[in-house]
Parts: sequence; structure tokens; C-alpha cells
Amino acid sequence: MDFDLTDEQRQLRDSVRAFMRQECTRDVVQRALAEGRHSERLWRRMAEMGWLGVAIDERYGGAGGNIVDMAIIVEALAPGEPAIGPYFATVCFGGKSVGFFGSEAQKRFYLPRITAGECVFSLSITEPGGGTDVLGAMQTHAERDGDGWVLNGAKMFTSAAQRADYIVVVARTTRRTDVRKAAEGVTLFIVPRTAPGVTVRKIETIVPIEDTNAVFYDNVRLPADAVLGEEGRGFYQLLATLNNERILGGAAALGCGVAAYDAALAYARERTAFGKIIGQMQAIQHYLADMTTELDAARLLVYRAAWLQSEGRECGAEATMAKMYAADVAVRACDRAIQIHGGMGLTEEVDVARYWRLARLWQIGPITNEQCRNIIAQMRCELPRSY
Ligand SMILES: Cc1cc2nc3c(=O)[nH]c(=O)nc-3n(C[C@H](O)[C@H](O)[C@H](O)COP(=O)(O)OP(=O)(O)OC[C@H]3O[C@@H](n4cnc5c(N)ncnc54)[C@H](O)[C@@H]3O)c2cc1C
Repeated sequence: MDFDLTDEQRQLRDSVRAFMRQECTRDVVQRALAEGRHSERLWRRMAEMGWLGVAIDERYGGAGGNIVDMAIIVEALAPGEPAIGPYFATVCFGGKSVGFFGSEAQKRFYLPRITAGECVFSLSITEPGGGTDVLGAMQTHAERDGDGWVLNGAKMFTSAAQRADYIVVVARTTRRTDVRKAAEGVTLFIVPRTAPGVTVRKIETIVPIEDTNAVFYDNVRLPADAVLGEEGRGFYQLLATLNNERILGGAAALGCGVAAYDAALAYARERTAFGKIIGQMQAIQHYLADMTTELDAARLLVYRAAWLQSEGRECGAEATMAKMYAADVAVRACDRAIQIHGGMGLTEEVDVARYWRLARLWQIGPITNEQCRNIIAQMRCELPRSY
């Protein structure tokens, strides 16, 4: 049994961490927060470093890496909003689905551009009626129009849509009443964000500069080659990407938890009370001991799932456990880090409240932790579906 990263993976981890220390400094974060937007400069730098195309096939200009490499990058980028911003939507979600399901022509067109940092993708699944019961809530639909399609509907929480060049939209293309199962008759489309009929409206959240948006599709005309993958099989295609999303969501949460732990440990070493550092107080030591133990356990779950996925092995339950546990542990670690900072923990002078806001997202997206527990109960405990 080998729990170590390879030499290449360790080098990758070290270079992303160094990049974050040197280039995604507190000043850069504060400026991005003040401007309410991600850093274009960091985006270009990440393209130069090869991290936007890390898991894109070498034939399309990528580095040909796997999900373990992506998890390493995501974990390190996660506590820095100007860096992680559109990375998730482009590299892990929307853009990744082109690599999975795109035609040869789509791959040749989009993947080199993603790698070069020339295009940002978003993914529009969640609807106003609900994100957990995606199929039950889905009203967005596309009708055939000659060779092409006309798309209508509304989506909620489409991250990075404000600056996206393309949005992968999930829409029903056969009426629910005309298919046997709700999962049938759903198709993925690649929609240019500037197409006539697309309107993007920012949703304000507590998650720092996670520019998530409501997107409205009003008679959007699309050519036939806007279909991504197989017509009518879009939901099954999405299912095939879920493990990836969950593993990388877990890696992101882990990164936020680790950043909070590091900040809390540093503070505990320097802050004094009653003539000694607070890190000498048993209560504080126990907080830190729990944080580091739980974060280690989360890391093992995340990288076990990533490794299984990279080996092409079944990892549905493992990926779901990794995302759920890492998100819960990260939120707990951030909360403890706030406590260790005392009153300062609730100020913007230190980063721990910001890490908490970032970590909190991962208990909700890309799937809620309640739904994760349902899935684990079904897959691992072999209990009947509860919903
Ligand atoms: C900042 C942010 C960014 C996001 N980015 C994207 C994005 O880029 N693209 C995208 O498509 N979506 C995105 N989402 C949406 C996210 O995936 C959904 O919010 C999530 O799937 C939950 O859906 P919902 O908010 O509609 O909650 P609902 O589905 O309405 O759920 C409400 C509550 O009921 C619980 N619940 C529902 N069903 C069950 C059940 N069977 N058993 C137990 N509990 C249940 C849920 O766990 C939750 O606690 C984002 C969300 C946020 C906040």
C-alpha cells in the first residue's frame, strides 16, 4: 500500500502552493474582493503554468494528466478566490464535459482554447425549482428549428457565467410525457454567452466573488453542432461526470480547511494570554489536534476517490463520501479557526471568516450533503432509496 504522491505530483503540489504564496497574496485577494471580480492576470499565469489544460488530452494541447493532478491543483487554489474563480466552472465542470462528450470538431475547437486561457466555461444545471431534484424541476427545454434548435428556460446559480464565453446548458428535448424515464430526453448544449436571448443576472451570495448567476434563455437559436454528446442522453452523460465533480469539490473544501488550520496554528503560536501563548492552552491544542486529524482523514478520502477514478475503477460511493466529509470537516475547521482567533476571527483583518464562507459552499454544491448521505446509504449501506 502506498499513500505517497509521486515525485511529479509532489512537484506539482509544491509549485501551485508557491504560486499561491507569491502571486495570490493577501493584497491580490483584497483587490479582487474590492473589485468583485477574479484576477485576469492570475488566469493568464495559470494558463502559462499549464494548469488550465492539466487533464486535457495532449492531442488538444493539454498536459494529459488525471483527476489526481486536478485535485492537487484545486486543493491548493481553493482558498484564493482570484485564482479558483472560473477554474472550477471551466476546467472541472463545463470545459471538462467537452473532453468527455465532445465531437472531434468540438474538442479541436474548444480544448486548446481552454488550455491557453482563451475561453471560460460555465455549467447551467440548477433551475429555480430546485437543484437536488434536477429532473423534477427541469423546465428548460429546446425545440427543433430546421437543422438547429430554439432554447427557452431559466437557470439558477450558473457560476462564472458573467465572464463565460460558453455555457453548457442542460435542457429537455423530449417532453417528459413522451419518455419512459425522467432521465431520458435531456440534451446538453454549448451556448455562447453572447448569443441573442441569453441574459445573465448576478446573484449576490456570501461566498466571496463566486460570481454565480441567474441565466435566462429566451428563444436562443442554436445550430445543430451546439449539441454536446448524444441528443436525449444528456442526463446520463452528466451522471458520468458526477464522480469528478464530487472529488474536486472535496479537494476544494479540503484546501479551505487546511488554510484555516494553518492560519489558526500560526495565531496560536503568537497570541498570548495569561503570560503564555494560547497554543499552550489545552483547549486550543485540542481544537488544533481535532482539526488536523479530521483534515488528514478528509485528505485520505479525497485522494482515495481520485486514485480510484484515475484507475478507471468504480468510485461512486467513495467520491460522494469524500465531498461530503471534506466539506463538513472544512466548515468545522474554519469555525474552530475563527474561535481560536477570538474576536479577530470575525474581522476582515484575518482570512478565517473568508475561508469559512468559501468552505460553506461545498456543503451545498455541486450536491448537498443531505443528498450525499442519501446516496451513500443507498450505495454503501444498500438501503432503499429514501426519496
Ligand atoms: C455559490 C453557488 C454556486 C453554484 N454553482 C452552480 C453552477 O455553476 N451550476 C449549477 O448548475 N448549479 C450551481 N449551484 C447550485 C447548487 O448545485 C444547488 O444549490 C444545489 O444542488 C442544491 O439545490 P437547491 O439550492 O435548489 O436546493 P434544494 O434542492 O431546493 O434543497 C433544499 C434543501 O432540501 C434538502 N433536500 C432536497 N432533497 C432532499 C432529499 N431527498 N433528502 C434530504 N434532503 C433533501 C437539500 O439537501 C437542501 O438542504 C451553485 C450554488 C451556489 C450556492
